[in-house]
Amino acid sequence: MGIEKRPFGALPEGCVADLFTLTSGEVEAQITNYGGIVTSLKVPDAKGEKGDIVHGFETLDGYLGKQPYFGCIVGRFANRISGARFTLDGKEYPLAKNDGENSLHGGLRGFDKVLWDAEAKGDSLKLTYLSRDGEEGYPGNLKATVTYSLKGSEFSIDYEATTNKPTVLNLTNHTYFNLSCGGDILGHELTLDADYFTPAGKGLIPTGEVRSVAGTPMDFRQPNRVGARIESRHEQLVCGGGYDCNWVVNGDAGRLRRAATVRDPVSCRAFVVLTTQPGIQFYTGNFLDGTLRGKGRVYTRRSGLCLETQHYPDSPNQPGFPSSVLRPGEKYHEKTVFRFHAG
Ligand code: BGC
Repeated sequence: MGIEKRPFGALPEGCVADLFTLTSGEVEAQITNYGGIVTSLKVPDAKGEKGDIVHGFETLDGYLGKQPYFGCIVGRFANRISGARFTLDGKEYPLAKNDGENSLHGGLRGFDKVLWDAEAKGDSLKLTYLSRDGEEGYPGNLKATVTYSLKGSEFSIDYEATTNKPTVLNLTNHTYFNLSCGGDILGHELTLDADYFTPAGKGLIPTGEVRSVAGTPMDFRQPNRVGARIESRHEQLVCGGGYDCNWVVNGDAGRLRRAATVRDPVSCRAFVVLTTQPGIQFYTGNFLDGTLRGKGRVYTRRSGLCLETQHYPDSPNQPGFPSSVLRPGEKYHEKTVFRFHAG
């Protein structure tokens, strides 16, 4: 029980990032206030043996180098914004192009690369960041709070924000999971509570269509191995080099409901994802290439999977998608829960 704090390392500008350890008996989570990164998450297997199920590094330095968003908070806007620009209330906002012609995960210095203020209270770690008007091109002073809580075997993330000017917002966490603590994730069994997905085209930008998963390898309504259909010639798998797409979570957005279940048949570690968000990005680590290592592991292609609860990619440019606009006076609140078990 409780939260321990220790220095994690110094940033180039001199500030020190801390590392917080949250323990509940069943689960142990380590989080740094640099990028709000979950650096380690230890959960028991069927024999009660704890293993670290997330990609990351032992030291802060690993996170300061080029790396694919391991464990971090993504903001202001998770996933891609096409053409790196959007129009809001008749005004166009240009953004940095950091993914071909598009903007990815908040731009050059998104919420994953800033130092958050941290406050540990009981079983929760509250991280706060003030993103100034114009930061990375986004309008409005945005006050964002992300609270990580660990209660028993439940790890939850609350995302809250307010703004003083209309803006767009899409916050998520980008943890790469591997329930066998090594090897690939192709044998993991996945269920996605989603009847529909939003197909992506060039540059992994959604076409705007909302399509049924029925009869396609995108159908995970029944548990299926991640690798069972990943090499099929389905256009979405070809386009992403594997799974890298947004699914529409069944049920009402705004209400906490089940979005996904993952189970590793070898260790029998499993978790359920619940969320208030309208969508979930399922990404199979297709761009990992084995050049990064950390915590004694090599991060090879498809060695980790991400389940990023979110608003749909490119929502600011897609009038048919649920709105990602936040206005002054409104309170943004989304919640995602990871519930672990073994069996
Ligand atoms: C995206 C991938 C991207 C990865 C790391 C995921 O959210 O969907 O296309 O490669 O993040 O940046």
